[in-house]
Amino acid sequence: MENSQFDPLIATDIAHHMHPFTDYGQMKKEGTRIITHAEGHYIYDSKGNRILDGMAGLWCVNVGYGRKELIDAAMEQLHKLPYYNTFFKTSNEPAAQLSERLTDIAPDGMNHVFYANSGSEANDTIVRMVRHFWALEGKPQKRIMISREYGYHGSTMVAASMGGMSGMHEQACRLPDFSHIRPPYGFLYQGNMDEKTFADVSAGWLEERIQELGADNVAAFIAEPIQGAGGVIISPAGYFDRIQDICRRHDILFVADEVITGYGRTGQWFASQTYNLKPDLMATAKGLTSGYQPMSAVLVGDRVAERLIDDCGEFYHGFTYSGHPVAAAVALANLNLIESEGMIERVRTDTGPYLNQAIQRLADHPMVGEVRSLGLLAAVELVESREGPKHFANQGDAGCVVRDHAIARGLMVRAVRDGMILSPPLTFTRADIDEVIRILGDALDDALKTLHLA
Ligand SMILES: *Cc1c(COP(=O)(O)O)cnc(C)c1O
Repeated sequence: MENSQFDPLIATDIAHHMHPFTDYGQMKKEGTRIITHAEGHYIYDSKGNRILDGMAGLWCVNVGYGRKELIDAAMEQLHKLPYYNTFFKTSNEPAAQLSERLTDIAPDGMNHVFYANSGSEANDTIVRMVRHFWALEGKPQKRIMISREYGYHGSTMVAASMGGMSGMHEQACRLPDFSHIRPPYGFLYQGNMDEKTFADVSAGWLEERIQELGADNVAAFIAEPIQGAGGVIISPAGYFDRIQDICRRHDILFVADEVITGYGRTGQWFASQTYNLKPDLMATAKGLTSGYQPMSAVLVGDRVAERLIDDCGEFYHGFTYSGHPVAAAVALANLNLIESEGMIERVRTDTGPYLNQAIQRLADHPMVGEVRSLGLLAAVELVESREGPKHFANQGDAGCVVRDHAIARGLMVRAVRDGMILSPPLTFTRADIDEVIRILGDALDDALKTLHLA
Protein backbone atom coordinates (compact mmCIF):
# COMPACT_ATOMS: atom_id res chain seq x y z
CA MET A 1 0.00 0.00 0.00
CA GLU A 2 1.84 3.01 -1.31
CA ASN A 3 0.10 5.55 0.86
CA SER A 4 -0.16 3.52 4.05
CA GLN A 5 1.76 6.15 6.00
CA PHE A 6 -1.30 8.42 5.67
CA ASP A 7 -4.67 8.42 7.43
CA PRO A 8 -7.29 6.63 5.31
CA LEU A 9 -9.09 9.86 4.30
CA ILE A 10 -5.84 11.48 3.19
CA ALA A 11 -4.85 8.33 1.29
CA THR A 12 -8.24 8.37 -0.45
CA ASP A 13 -7.89 12.03 -1.27
CA ILE A 14 -4.44 11.57 -2.77
CA ALA A 15 -5.57 8.52 -4.74
CA HIS A 16 -8.50 10.22 -6.50
CA HIS A 17 -8.58 13.97 -6.07
CA MET A 18 -6.68 16.14 -8.55
CA HIS A 19 -6.19 19.37 -6.60
CA PRO A 20 -5.98 22.80 -8.20
CA PHE A 21 -2.61 24.62 -8.17
CA THR A 22 -0.86 21.64 -6.60
CA ASP A 23 2.45 19.92 -7.30
CA TYR A 24 1.21 16.34 -7.58
CA GLY A 25 4.59 14.75 -6.88
CA GLN A 26 4.90 16.70 -3.66
CA MET A 27 1.30 15.93 -2.73
CA LYS A 28 1.86 12.19 -3.10
CA LYS A 29 4.95 12.38 -0.90
CA GLU A 30 3.68 14.71 1.78
CA GLY A 31 -0.07 14.09 1.79
CA THR A 32 -2.84 16.67 1.96
CA ARG A 33 -4.15 18.70 4.87
CA ILE A 34 -7.82 18.03 5.49
CA ILE A 35 -9.67 20.96 7.00
CA THR A 36 -12.53 19.60 9.05
CA HIS A 37 -14.17 22.69 10.50
CA ALA A 38 -13.71 26.37 11.23
CA GLU A 39 -14.97 28.95 13.68
CA GLY A 40 -14.34 32.67 13.90
CA HIS A 41 -10.76 33.23 12.73
CA TYR A 42 -9.52 29.65 13.16
CA ILE A 43 -9.49 26.61 10.90
CA TYR A 44 -9.03 23.07 12.26
CA ASP A 45 -7.46 20.11 10.47
CA SER A 46 -8.00 16.37 10.77
CA LYS A 47 -4.84 16.03 12.87
CA GLY A 48 -6.32 18.29 15.52
CA ASN A 49 -4.30 21.41 14.69
CA ARG A 50 -5.88 24.80 15.26
CA ILE A 51 -4.60 27.37 12.75
CA LEU A 52 -5.18 31.15 12.74
CA ASP A 53 -6.38 32.02 9.24
CA GLY A 54 -4.25 34.90 8.02
CA MET A 55 -5.59 34.43 4.48
CA ALA A 56 -9.38 34.44 5.05
CA GLY A 57 -9.57 31.12 3.21
CA LEU A 58 -8.36 32.25 -0.21
CA TRP A 59 -8.83 36.02 0.22
CA CYS A 60 -12.57 35.53 0.60
CA VAL A 61 -13.93 34.80 4.09
CA ASN A 62 -14.34 38.50 4.90
CA VAL A 63 -16.79 38.03 7.79
CA GLY A 64 -14.98 35.06 9.37
CA TYR A 65 -16.29 31.51 9.81
CA GLY A 66 -19.50 30.25 11.37
CA ARG A 67 -21.61 33.37 10.85
CA LYS A 68 -25.18 32.40 11.64
CA GLU A 69 -26.71 35.19 9.55
CA LEU A 70 -25.26 33.74 6.35
CA ILE A 71 -26.06 30.14 7.26
CA ASP A 72 -29.69 31.01 8.10
CA ALA A 73 -30.08 32.99 4.87
CA ALA A 74 -28.90 29.96 2.89
CA MET A 75 -31.17 27.55 4.76
CA GLU A 76 -34.21 29.74 4.40
CA GLN A 77 -33.63 30.22 0.67
CA LEU A 78 -32.97 26.49 0.15
CA HIS A 79 -36.39 25.75 1.60
CA LYS A 80 -38.12 28.46 -0.39
CA LEU A 81 -36.48 28.17 -3.80
CA PRO A 82 -33.22 26.19 -4.02
CA TYR A 83 -32.73 26.88 -7.70
CA TYR A 84 -34.21 28.48 -10.69
CA ASN A 85 -32.43 30.00 -13.68
CA THR A 86 -32.32 33.67 -14.62
CA PHE A 87 -32.27 33.09 -18.40
CA PHE A 88 -35.02 34.25 -20.76
CA LYS A 89 -36.42 37.11 -18.65
CA THR A 90 -36.80 35.02 -15.47
CA SER A 91 -35.58 36.19 -12.06
CA ASN A 92 -35.81 35.52 -8.33
CA GLU A 93 -36.22 37.68 -5.25
CA PRO A 94 -32.67 37.63 -3.87
CA ALA A 95 -31.07 38.20 -7.30
CA ALA A 96 -33.23 41.24 -7.97
CA GLN A 97 -32.62 42.67 -4.49
CA LEU A 98 -28.90 41.98 -4.61
CA SER A 99 -28.61 43.82 -7.93
CA GLU A 100 -30.08 46.96 -6.41
CA ARG A 101 -27.88 46.64 -3.32
CA LEU A 102 -24.70 46.17 -5.35
CA THR A 103 -25.36 49.16 -7.55
CA ASP A 104 -26.02 51.23 -4.40
CA ILE A 105 -22.57 50.49 -2.96
CA ALA A 106 -20.69 50.46 -6.30
CA PRO A 107 -18.80 53.50 -7.58
CA ASP A 108 -21.04 56.13 -9.20
CA GLY A 109 -22.17 55.38 -12.72
CA MET A 110 -22.36 51.60 -12.25
CA ASN A 111 -26.02 50.65 -12.31
CA HIS A 112 -26.11 47.12 -13.72
CA VAL A 113 -24.93 43.69 -12.61
CA PHE A 114 -24.21 40.43 -14.48
CA TYR A 115 -23.82 37.29 -12.34
CA ALA A 116 -21.50 34.31 -12.69
CA ASN A 117 -20.02 31.78 -10.28
CA SER A 118 -16.35 32.67 -10.03
CA GLY A 119 -13.87 35.44 -10.58
CA SER A 120 -12.64 33.68 -13.72
CA GLU A 121 -16.12 33.61 -15.21
CA ALA A 122 -16.62 37.26 -14.26
CA ASN A 123 -13.50 38.12 -16.23
CA ASP A 124 -14.53 35.95 -19.18
CA THR A 125 -17.84 37.81 -19.09
CA ILE A 126 -16.00 41.13 -19.11
CA VAL A 127 -13.97 40.19 -22.21
CA ARG A 128 -17.20 39.11 -23.93
CA MET A 129 -18.88 42.39 -22.99
CA VAL A 130 -15.92 44.57 -23.96
CA ARG A 131 -15.59 43.03 -27.42
CA HIS A 132 -19.31 43.08 -27.99
CA PHE A 133 -19.42 46.72 -26.89
CA TRP A 134 -16.78 47.77 -29.43
CA ALA A 135 -18.48 45.78 -32.16
CA LEU A 136 -21.72 47.63 -31.44
CA GLU A 137 -19.77 50.90 -31.50
CA GLY A 138 -18.67 50.02 -35.02
CA LYS A 139 -15.07 49.33 -33.98
CA PRO A 140 -14.82 45.53 -34.00
CA GLN A 141 -11.05 45.71 -34.53
CA LYS A 142 -10.67 46.98 -30.95
CA ARG A 143 -10.07 43.53 -29.44
CA ILE A 144 -6.82 43.54 -27.49
CA MET A 145 -6.94 43.45 -23.69
CA ILE A 146 -3.87 44.93 -22.01
CA SER A 147 -3.10 43.65 -18.52
CA ARG A 148 -0.06 43.35 -16.28
CA GLU A 149 2.63 40.80 -15.52
CA TYR A 150 1.95 39.14 -12.15
CA GLY A 151 -1.71 40.05 -12.62
CA TYR A 152 -4.15 37.30 -11.69
CA HIS A 153 -7.54 37.21 -13.35
CA GLY A 154 -8.44 33.54 -12.94
CA SER A 155 -7.80 30.20 -14.55
CA THR A 156 -10.19 29.68 -17.45
CA MET A 157 -8.48 29.99 -20.85
CA VAL A 158 -9.45 33.64 -21.23
CA ALA A 159 -8.68 34.58 -17.63
CA ALA A 160 -5.32 32.75 -17.70
CA SER A 161 -4.40 34.41 -20.99
CA MET A 162 -5.30 37.79 -19.55
CA GLY A 163 -3.44 37.12 -16.31
CA GLY A 164 0.28 37.71 -16.23
CA MET A 165 1.46 34.43 -14.76
CA SER A 166 4.14 32.97 -17.03
CA GLY A 167 3.81 29.45 -15.63
CA MET A 168 0.14 29.37 -16.61
CA HIS A 169 0.95 30.69 -20.09
CA GLU A 170 3.58 28.00 -20.59
CA GLN A 171 1.21 25.16 -19.71
CA ALA A 172 -1.98 26.28 -21.38
CA CYS A 173 -0.66 28.51 -24.20
CA ARG A 174 -1.92 32.04 -24.53
CA LEU A 175 -4.91 33.10 -26.59
CA PRO A 176 -4.30 35.88 -29.11
CA ASP A 177 -5.21 39.53 -28.41
CA PHE A 178 -3.89 39.67 -24.85
CA SER A 179 -0.90 41.88 -24.12
CA HIS A 180 1.02 42.36 -20.87
CA ILE A 181 2.92 45.30 -19.45
CA ARG A 182 5.12 45.57 -16.36
CA PRO A 183 3.33 46.20 -13.07
CA PRO A 184 4.17 49.16 -10.80
CA TYR A 185 6.14 46.83 -8.55
CA GLY A 186 8.36 49.17 -6.56
CA PHE A 187 10.35 46.45 -4.79
CA LEU A 188 11.67 45.22 -8.16
CA TYR A 189 11.54 48.22 -10.48
CA GLN A 190 11.59 51.49 -8.53
CA GLY A 191 15.34 51.64 -7.93
CA ASN A 192 16.32 55.20 -6.97
CA MET A 193 13.23 56.87 -8.43
CA ASP A 194 11.02 58.87 -6.08
CA GLU A 195 7.39 57.78 -5.83
CA LYS A 196 5.98 60.32 -8.26
CA THR A 197 8.59 59.59 -10.91
CA PHE A 198 7.97 55.87 -10.52
CA ALA A 199 4.21 56.43 -10.90
CA ASP A 200 4.84 58.35 -14.13
CA VAL A 201 7.29 55.79 -15.47
CA SER A 202 5.18 52.75 -14.66
CA ALA A 203 1.95 54.26 -16.01
CA GLY A 204 3.98 55.24 -19.08
CA TRP A 205 4.47 51.52 -19.83
CA LEU A 206 0.76 51.40 -20.68
CA GLU A 207 0.96 54.36 -23.04
CA GLU A 208 4.01 52.91 -24.79
CA ARG A 209 2.19 49.61 -25.33
CA ILE A 210 -0.93 51.33 -26.67
CA GLN A 211 1.22 53.23 -29.15
CA GLU A 212 2.96 50.00 -30.24
CA LEU A 213 -0.32 48.17 -30.75
CA GLY A 214 -2.31 51.12 -32.07
CA ALA A 215 -5.20 52.48 -30.00
CA ASP A 216 -7.57 51.32 -32.75
CA ASN A 217 -6.75 47.73 -31.82
CA VAL A 218 -6.93 48.04 -28.05
CA ALA A 219 -10.26 47.33 -26.35
CA ALA A 220 -9.49 47.72 -22.66
CA PHE A 221 -6.92 47.84 -19.90
CA ILE A 222 -7.64 45.61 -16.90
CA ALA A 223 -5.95 45.89 -13.52
CA GLU A 224 -6.38 44.76 -9.97
CA PRO A 225 -6.25 47.93 -7.83
CA ILE A 226 -3.83 45.94 -5.66
CA GLN A 227 -2.32 42.87 -7.34
CA GLY A 228 -3.22 40.07 -4.93
CA ALA A 229 -2.00 36.67 -6.07
CA GLY A 230 0.91 38.41 -7.80
CA GLY A 231 2.24 39.31 -4.35
CA VAL A 232 0.15 42.16 -2.92
CA ILE A 233 1.72 44.72 -5.23
CA ILE A 234 0.63 48.22 -4.16
CA SER A 235 1.02 50.93 -6.80
CA PRO A 236 2.76 54.25 -6.09
CA ALA A 237 0.51 57.26 -5.38
CA GLY A 238 -0.73 58.82 -8.61
CA TYR A 239 -0.30 55.69 -10.75
CA PHE A 240 -3.98 55.11 -11.35
CA ASP A 241 -4.68 58.80 -12.02
CA ARG A 242 -2.17 58.60 -14.87
CA ILE A 243 -3.54 55.23 -16.04
CA GLN A 244 -7.10 56.48 -16.20
CA ASP A 245 -6.02 59.59 -18.05
CA ILE A 246 -4.19 57.43 -20.62
CA CYS A 247 -7.25 55.20 -21.09
CA ARG A 248 -9.50 58.23 -21.59
CA ARG A 249 -7.19 59.90 -24.09
CA HIS A 250 -6.96 56.75 -26.22
CA ASP A 251 -10.62 55.77 -25.74
CA ILE A 252 -9.78 52.47 -24.11
CA LEU A 253 -12.11 50.99 -21.52
CA PHE A 254 -10.77 50.73 -17.99
CA VAL A 255 -11.61 47.55 -16.07
CA ALA A 256 -10.98 47.04 -12.36
CA ASP A 257 -10.58 43.44 -11.20
CA GLU A 258 -11.83 43.83 -7.62
CA VAL A 259 -12.20 40.12 -6.92
CA ILE A 260 -9.89 40.49 -3.90
CA THR A 261 -10.10 44.21 -3.18
CA GLY A 262 -13.90 44.37 -3.22
CA TYR A 263 -16.25 44.23 -0.26
CA GLY A 264 -14.25 46.07 2.35
CA ARG A 265 -10.70 44.81 2.13
CA THR A 266 -9.08 48.22 1.58
CA GLY A 267 -11.37 50.11 3.99
CA GLN A 268 -14.03 51.09 1.44
CA TRP A 269 -16.64 48.91 -0.23
CA PHE A 270 -14.35 48.84 -3.26
CA ALA A 271 -10.72 49.81 -3.83
CA SER A 272 -12.04 51.87 -6.74
CA GLN A 273 -13.34 54.21 -4.04
CA THR A 274 -10.02 54.09 -2.16
CA TYR A 275 -8.12 55.02 -5.33
CA ASN A 276 -10.79 57.25 -6.86
CA LEU A 277 -11.21 55.02 -9.92
CA LYS A 278 -14.04 55.27 -12.41
CA PRO A 279 -14.01 51.84 -14.03
CA ASP A 280 -16.17 51.00 -17.04
CA LEU A 281 -16.49 47.46 -15.70
CA MET A 282 -15.63 45.80 -12.43
CA ALA A 283 -15.15 42.10 -11.64
CA THR A 284 -16.07 41.06 -8.10
CA ALA A 285 -16.38 37.66 -6.38
CA LYS A 286 -14.66 36.21 -3.29
CA GLY A 287 -15.82 38.60 -0.51
CA LEU A 288 -19.23 39.00 -2.19
CA THR A 289 -20.45 35.93 -0.28
CA SER A 290 -17.45 35.66 2.05
CA GLY A 291 -16.92 32.33 0.27
CA TYR A 292 -20.01 30.75 1.87
CA GLN A 293 -21.42 30.21 -1.65
CA PRO A 294 -19.71 30.46 -5.03
CA MET A 295 -20.80 33.66 -6.76
CA SER A 296 -19.35 36.51 -8.79
CA ALA A 297 -20.82 39.77 -9.99
CA VAL A 298 -19.70 41.98 -12.86
CA LEU A 299 -20.61 45.60 -12.16
CA VAL A 300 -21.30 47.28 -15.48
CA GLY A 301 -20.83 51.02 -15.97
CA ASP A 302 -23.46 53.07 -17.76
CA ARG A 303 -21.52 53.55 -21.00
CA VAL A 304 -21.24 49.81 -21.64
CA ALA A 305 -24.61 48.86 -20.12
CA GLU A 306 -26.57 51.39 -22.12
CA ARG A 307 -24.95 50.32 -25.38
CA LEU A 308 -25.57 46.62 -24.70
CA ILE A 309 -29.12 47.15 -23.47
CA ASP A 310 -30.17 49.62 -26.16
CA ASP A 311 -28.64 47.93 -29.19
CA CYS A 312 -27.86 44.42 -28.36
CA GLY A 313 -30.81 42.22 -29.00
CA GLU A 314 -29.88 39.01 -27.27
CA PHE A 315 -26.54 38.82 -25.45
CA TYR A 316 -25.52 35.20 -26.09
CA HIS A 317 -23.85 34.64 -22.75
CA GLY A 318 -24.70 33.29 -19.29
CA PHE A 319 -24.35 30.40 -16.88
CA THR A 320 -26.82 27.88 -15.51
CA TYR A 321 -26.17 29.26 -12.04
CA SER A 322 -26.06 32.99 -12.91
CA GLY A 323 -28.00 34.81 -10.18
CA HIS A 324 -28.36 31.63 -8.13
CA PRO A 325 -31.01 32.33 -5.47
CA VAL A 326 -29.14 30.72 -2.56
CA ALA A 327 -25.86 32.44 -3.42
CA ALA A 328 -27.67 35.76 -3.85
CA ALA A 329 -29.44 35.36 -0.48
CA VAL A 330 -26.10 34.64 1.20
CA ALA A 331 -24.51 37.64 -0.54
CA LEU A 332 -27.27 39.90 0.75
CA ALA A 333 -26.87 38.60 4.30
CA ASN A 334 -23.09 39.02 3.97
CA LEU A 335 -23.33 42.64 2.82
CA ASN A 336 -25.79 43.38 5.61
CA LEU A 337 -23.43 41.89 8.18
CA ILE A 338 -20.42 43.81 6.85
CA GLU A 339 -22.48 46.97 7.15
CA SER A 340 -24.23 46.36 10.48
CA GLU A 341 -20.96 45.46 12.23
CA GLY A 342 -19.13 48.45 10.77
CA MET A 343 -16.39 46.21 9.37
CA ILE A 344 -15.32 48.54 6.59
CA GLU A 345 -15.04 51.54 8.88
CA ARG A 346 -12.98 49.45 11.31
CA VAL A 347 -10.57 48.36 8.58
CA ARG A 348 -10.20 51.94 7.35
CA THR A 349 -9.73 53.68 10.69
CA ASP A 350 -8.46 51.01 13.08
CA THR A 351 -7.21 47.59 12.02
CA GLY A 352 -5.84 48.64 8.62
CA PRO A 353 -3.61 51.38 10.05
CA TYR A 354 -2.76 49.07 12.97
CA LEU A 355 -1.60 46.29 10.62
CA ASN A 356 0.49 48.86 8.77
CA GLN A 357 2.27 49.75 12.04
CA ALA A 358 2.50 46.22 13.36
CA ILE A 359 4.11 44.82 10.24
CA GLN A 360 6.97 47.31 10.71
CA ARG A 361 8.08 45.07 13.59
CA LEU A 362 9.31 42.66 10.91
CA ALA A 363 10.97 45.31 8.75
CA ASP A 364 14.41 45.04 10.37
CA HIS A 365 14.58 41.26 10.34
CA PRO A 366 17.72 40.09 8.50
CA MET A 367 15.59 38.15 5.98
CA VAL A 368 13.14 40.97 5.19
CA GLY A 369 13.66 43.31 2.24
CA GLU A 370 10.41 45.27 2.42
CA VAL A 371 7.05 45.28 4.21
CA ARG A 372 3.93 46.95 2.85
CA SER A 373 0.19 46.96 3.49
CA LEU A 374 -3.05 48.70 2.70
CA GLY A 375 -6.28 47.94 4.54
CA LEU A 376 -6.11 44.25 5.45
CA LEU A 377 -3.75 43.27 2.65
CA ALA A 378 -0.06 42.94 3.43
CA ALA A 379 3.19 41.55 2.09
CA VAL A 380 6.61 40.80 3.58
CA GLU A 381 9.32 40.47 0.93
CA LEU A 382 12.08 38.01 1.82
CA VAL A 383 15.71 38.46 0.79
CA GLU A 384 18.80 36.34 1.26
CA SER A 385 20.64 39.43 2.42
CA ARG A 386 19.54 43.01 2.98
CA GLU A 387 22.72 44.23 1.25
CA GLY A 388 21.82 45.04 -2.30
CA PRO A 389 19.32 43.55 -1.53
CA LYS A 390 20.38 40.05 -2.56
CA HIS A 391 17.43 37.95 -3.70
CA PHE A 392 17.29 34.19 -3.23
CA ALA A 393 18.74 32.26 -6.16
CA ASN A 394 15.95 29.67 -6.30
CA GLN A 395 12.89 31.90 -6.33
CA GLY A 396 10.06 30.60 -4.16
CA ASP A 397 12.00 28.17 -1.99
CA ALA A 398 12.49 30.55 0.95
CA GLY A 399 8.86 31.65 0.81
CA CYS A 400 7.72 28.04 1.15
CA VAL A 401 10.12 27.43 4.05
CA VAL A 402 8.74 30.41 6.00
CA ARG A 403 5.17 29.44 5.13
CA ASP A 404 5.64 25.88 6.40
CA HIS A 405 7.21 27.11 9.65
CA ALA A 406 4.31 29.54 10.12
CA ILE A 407 1.71 26.83 9.55
CA ALA A 408 3.52 24.52 11.96
CA ARG A 409 3.33 27.33 14.51
CA GLY A 410 -0.40 27.76 13.92
CA LEU A 411 -0.67 30.54 11.33
CA MET A 412 -1.99 30.11 7.79
CA VAL A 413 -0.14 32.44 5.44
CA ARG A 414 0.67 32.21 1.78
CA ALA A 415 3.95 32.52 -0.08
CA VAL A 416 4.07 34.23 -3.47
CA ARG A 417 7.56 33.81 -4.91
CA ASP A 418 9.61 34.93 -1.89
CA GLY A 419 6.96 37.15 -0.36
CA MET A 420 4.70 36.32 2.57
CA ILE A 421 1.12 37.38 1.98
CA LEU A 422 -1.62 38.29 4.45
CA SER A 423 -5.31 38.86 3.77
CA PRO A 424 -7.18 38.08 7.02
CA PRO A 425 -10.91 38.30 7.70
CA LEU A 426 -12.16 41.89 8.10
CA THR A 427 -13.27 40.94 11.61
CA PHE A 428 -9.63 40.53 12.75
CA THR A 429 -8.87 42.42 15.96
CA ARG A 430 -5.66 44.17 16.97
CA ALA A 431 -4.89 41.13 19.14
CA ASP A 432 -5.25 38.83 16.12
CA ILE A 433 -2.90 41.07 14.16
CA ASP A 434 -0.35 41.00 17.00
CA GLU A 435 -0.57 37.21 17.01
CA VAL A 436 0.01 37.03 13.24
CA ILE A 437 3.07 39.27 13.43
CA ARG A 438 4.48 37.36 16.41
CA ILE A 439 4.14 33.98 14.68
CA LEU A 440 5.46 35.30 11.39
CA GLY A 441 8.50 36.72 13.21
CA ASP A 442 9.15 33.35 14.85
CA ALA A 443 8.74 31.61 11.49
CA LEU A 444 11.31 33.98 9.98
CA ASP A 445 13.74 33.09 12.80
CA ASP A 446 13.08 29.39 12.17
CA ALA A 447 13.77 29.91 8.47
CA LEU A 448 17.11 31.62 9.14
CA LYS A 449 18.23 28.34 10.69
CA THR A 450 16.62 26.06 8.10
CA LEU A 451 18.21 28.05 5.28
CA HIS A 452 21.56 28.25 7.12
CA LEU A 453 21.57 32.03 7.09
CA ALA A 454 22.17 32.23 10.85
C1 LIG B 1 -9.19 34.76 -7.31
C2 LIG B 1 -9.16 35.80 -8.36
C3 LIG B 1 -9.78 35.60 -9.60
C4 LIG B 1 -10.39 34.27 -9.99
O1 LIG B 1 -11.43 33.93 -9.19
P1 LIG B 1 -11.93 32.37 -9.22
O2 LIG B 1 -13.18 32.45 -8.39
O3 LIG B 1 -10.86 31.57 -8.59
O4 LIG B 1 -12.19 32.02 -10.61
C5 LIG B 1 -9.81 36.65 -10.48
N1 LIG B 1 -9.24 37.83 -10.19
C6 LIG B 1 -8.62 38.05 -9.02
C7 LIG B 1 -8.03 39.39 -8.75
C8 LIG B 1 -8.54 37.03 -8.09
O5 LIG B 1 -7.89 37.23 -6.95
